[in-house]
Amino acid sequence: MQTIGVLTSGGDSPGMNAAVRAVVRTGIYKGLKVIGIRQGYHGLINGLMDEMNLSSVADIIHRGGTMLQTARSEEFRTEEGRRKANYALKIFGVDGLVVIGGDGSFAGAKKLSELGIKTIGIPGTIDNDLRYTDYTIGFDTAVNTVVDAIGKIRDTSTSHGRANVIEVMGRHCGDIALYAGLAGGAESIIVPEVPFEIDRVCKKLIKGRNRGKLHSIILLAEGVGGGMDIAKEIEEKTGIETRVTILGHIQRGGTPTAFDRNIASKMGARAVELLVAGKSCRAVGVKGLDVIDVDFDEVFNTENKFDKKSYDLANILSI
Ligand code: ATP
Repeated sequence: MQTIGVLTSGGDSPGMNAAVRAVVRTGIYKGLKVIGIRQGYHGLINGLMDEMNLSSVADIIHRGGTMLQTARSEEFRTEEGRRKANYALKIFGVDGLVVIGGDGSFAGAKKLSELGIKTIGIPGTIDNDLRYTDYTIGFDTAVNTVVDAIGKIRDTSTSHGRANVIEVMGRHCGDIALYAGLAGGAESIIVPEVPFEIDRVCKKLIKGRNRGKLHSIILLAEGVGGGMDIAKEIEEKTGIETRVTILGHIQRGGTPTAFDRNIASKMGARAVELLVAGKSCRAVGVKGLDVIDVDFDEVFNTENKFDKKSYDLANILSI
């Protein structure tokens, strides 16, 4: 292994920069040449790559987004697209590739490895929807952004005695809603993993109002459905004025938390170590306090495991 490449792919997440920095600096420390590939697989196909040095990744550890930019590439899903990508890697002499992204990006990396290039995945997505790892890079920052928003919305909710539905990201995964809801003291948390009954949400709101509660926060994961419809139904059933806030892309940006920077740094270093050891088709992750790595197949085959204990606790604490 003499030359490695690094790219970010799929949706961006805060902390991706810290991971890029760790890959570049660990690579150089180990005597490798490191190539930065811009705009994910799209950039790979089109040869958007340059050699990086220690200064290339200076002053980025605290920045959200990704200095390498990211993209989704339909062309890379085709054999022809991946053949072009492999050709570009050959021209630049890249023997190993670190892909920072979600499960789609890992699926692409696995297919690319069939053409001979060694690939390692680092989980970069705010959704925390990769089950082989406790945390993905960006999740903690997104949760903190949502908790901050809950605090602000709670103020105005209290002033007006309104209920507020806050819709958060996560696609088919309810982790952002769950962890931000628990930390933010939400009255109800609605996630795709647990069947949801509007009447239970309404009952809780009415009980809360009757004991003098002025605010009500309902945290809704986007994978369940539209916040507007749910708010309308709540208002009709309870008579409590209900507003909706869709937090959207503010959850994807911002300064990464120390937690995200730490796991990104550790996983970036592990990815390079794996390539140096000649490993391929492995995904790096975090279990408890340990950095782990598993086969890509394990990433795709690990069952969805929702933290029902924390969900039940959030329900108990918001009675
Ligand atoms: P996020 O979780 O943020 O959405 P992701 O990595 O899952 O990130 P995707 O859009 O699913 O995001 O994948 C990123 C890119 O990876 C795609 O645009 C495509 O180029 C490539 N890719 C995804 N799935 C495959 C696949 N099955 N085969 C080949 N390439 C793929």
